[in-house]
Amino acid sequence: MKIVVCIKQVPDTTDVKINKETNTLIREGVKSIINPYDVYAIEEGLALKEIYGGSVTVISMGPPQVCEALKEAVSLGVDNVILISDRAFAGADSLATSYTLAKTIEKIGEVDLIITGKQAIDGDTAQVGPGIAEWLHIPHSTYIKAVEEITGEHIRVQRMIEGGYERIELDMPALITVVKEINEPRFPSIRGILRSREIEVPIWTANDLDVDETRIGLKGSPTQVVTIATPELGSKGEIFRGKAEEQVQKLFAALRERQIV
Ligand SMILES: Cc1cc2nc3c(=O)[nH]c(=O)nc-3n(C[C@H](O)[C@H](O)[C@H](O)COP(=O)(O)OP(=O)(O)OC[C@H]3O[C@@H](n4cnc5c(N)ncnc54)[C@H](O)[C@@H]3O)c2cc1C
Repeated sequence: MKIVVCIKQVPDTTDVKINKETNTLIREGVKSIINPYDVYAIEEGLALKEIYGGSVTVISMGPPQVCEALKEAVSLGVDNVILISDRAFAGADSLATSYTLAKTIEKIGEVDLIITGKQAIDGDTAQVGPGIAEWLHIPHSTYIKAVEEITGEHIRVQRMIEGGYERIELDMPALITVVKEINEPRFPSIRGILRSREIEVPIWTANDLDVDETRIGLKGSPTQVVTIATPELGSKGEIFRGKAEEQVQKLFAALRERQIV
């Protein structure tokens, strides 16, 4: 079985500051990591390979420093990695990103299963996985918490929903996006770490892919960011201290004043 896992490098924080003049995220000085959900996607790829055989290829679109994230994937035991990097891809929104990743997967060829994280912790749209599947005209399912079984033609999965899960069977090739409940990621092995130090990450540019130039980068991105703002913090809570009986009275008085009770 040929498995492709898509990973994104993201800032190691959910407290990213915004440059108010350019309306862009300030990434300088912030350490980068593999998007946490994507670590579970890698683990699922490796676990399925252990059961069903085949190979796991990890791909990522981004600037050259994303090589580090791909090397980390190598240390975990994946077979191949590919960085998709070109100035022509810069400014890609989730539509252009999913198009470029779909074109990469098309070039890899004969892929049976594509795994992505449920969402990136910086962009947070959760659009890229389903977007890839739409470009490739293959079925997809999101928020997968377990892969039950893969037969030659179908994959049966458990999809998280409020209060439980639903069982879904998809024709293959298919794409799934995964949640943290799906597995327990492994640690890098010594052999993997050594291999990651030696490997030269292949870089595919726009010229290597059969892309329509009007669909990549800024040109292929219909999203317009009007403004980005840090949400105002809500009012701070009020702590009532002292004898419980008195404080309960005060609490109720405060709630009545705000017409909550
Ligand atoms: C107008 C505009 C311009 C932008 N310009 C840039 C830019 O120049 N540089 C930049 O870094 N970002 C840029 N972004 C942000 C970038 O487009 C998004 O981060 C990207 O589309 C992914 O969306 P997301 O972060 O919401 O991912 P989600 O859809 O939340 O991610 C879901 C999953 O998809 C996969 N995935 C997501 N992104 C990638 C990727 N790049 N490679 C492999 N797998 C991936 C991962 O498995 C991830 O868990 C721009 C956004 C807009 C709207």
